[in-house]
Amino acid sequence: MKVRMLPVFLALAALASGETVVLRNFTLIDGTGRAPVANAGLVITDGRITYAGPASGLKAPSGARTADLGGKFIMPGIINLHGHLGNVVGLAQDPKFFTRENVNSQLDTYAKYGVTSMLSMGSDQPVIEKMRAEQRAGRPRRARIFTALRGFAWKGGYPTTVPGMKGVPYEVSTPAEVEAAMNDLAPKHPDVVKVWVDDHLGKEQKIPTPISLAIIKAAKKHGLHTCAHIFYYEDAKALAEGGLYACVHSVRDRDVDAALISAMKKNGTWQVGTLAREMSTFIFAKPPAFLSDPFFAMGTTPSVISTLRSDAFLKKQNADHDLPKYPGFLATAQRNLKKLYDSGVKVGFGTDSGPPARFSGFSEHLEMDLMAQAGFTPMQIITIFSKNSAEFLGARDLGTIEKGHWADLVVLAKNPLDNIRNARSIEAVYIAGNKVR
Ligand SMILES: [Zn+2]
Repeated sequence: MKVRMLPVFLALAALASGETVVLRNFTLIDGTGRAPVANAGLVITDGRITYAGPASGLKAPSGARTADLGGKFIMPGIINLHGHLGNVVGLAQDPKFFTRENVNSQLDTYAKYGVTSMLSMGSDQPVIEKMRAEQRAGRPRRARIFTALRGFAWKGGYPTTVPGMKGVPYEVSTPAEVEAAMNDLAPKHPDVVKVWVDDHLGKEQKIPTPISLAIIKAAKKHGLHTCAHIFYYEDAKALAEGGLYACVHSVRDRDVDAALISAMKKNGTWQVGTLAREMSTFIFAKPPAFLSDPFFAMGTTPSVISTLRSDAFLKKQNADHDLPKYPGFLATAQRNLKKLYDSGVKVGFGTDSGPPARFSGFSEHLEMDLMAQAGFTPMQIITIFSKNSAEFLGARDLGTIEKGHWADLVVLAKNPLDNIRNARSIEAVYIAGNKVR
């Protein structure tokens, strides 16, 4: 009898907890792309925004906790559409590291940097399903998990050849294997489906286009969207024409053209840039200045930083024969991202953070720098990581700071519209109205 009564008591307790927080005296940048609102106010009830706008229109319920932000700035939480959780400790990658504790610690790191949602792209272990379900049943205190669960790779192809990645994705070589893997995956409700389409600069076998198209088709049958790791223009074009939902890296072998732009626009294919990933391929060949930046250090350990400075590590970085090509790939990715955006292709925000030396949280701020360098305005960058990226996820109550949405937001000391670098001046981070930093 008592056990049966419990849910009622819990429900009453939840109602009774009705908690309202009022924030005032700040400039609101809501992520919609609209002009900032000076002297704004925000009301958050049980983690959701009930008012966002000029302080003059704010009606604070009696007894609400009020915080005066003293002229600071609020922008939406950052949504990262391409990351990887759980497989890395320090600079080593192994699926045996994929534990609840390790995933949580990475979600905490993301949150510290203002990243309030992340989409893990195809390298997860089953425990992630339970963690995601727990988050969605309540008000998370860490970055929100979205996940492709296990992605699709060509049998024996990239990335199963990367240390620690064997056995992580599904490996397929026939449409029948695609079908079987999709039937295993779909009931677990991945937020997207991931496929790796790459030959790692000719060093491995690439998944053939008909198999990638079979994945897109099989996913569609289950109502799922497919995101592709691509490198080459020809793959981006063939898959966009085949109904691909998103290219989750930039085309890097050449400049995009009208034919690709029209295929992406016609099929509603998104582009996610991952410029920070490109930078990571060469930036550590010499110790970068940011190794001594406390903003970088807060997301890693002194031991990792000293490894990054070590002769052994630098020697290994410089032994990569493809090293001289990497800065050019970044420049091409930057040009292409800007050109696609200016042509009206949908652009979302993503970094490919999480694998070794692609630092969760810090990468997202590098991405913003690299987007600014590519010609994006701070307002465009903010809109891309909030409004656009929530739309990508189909998350109707995330992204912008508007009535009815979850209060996932970042309080900044300096105005990010003056310089996107000011997005680093983080004073507080809220997820579902919980102050997590
Ligand atoms: Zn990735």
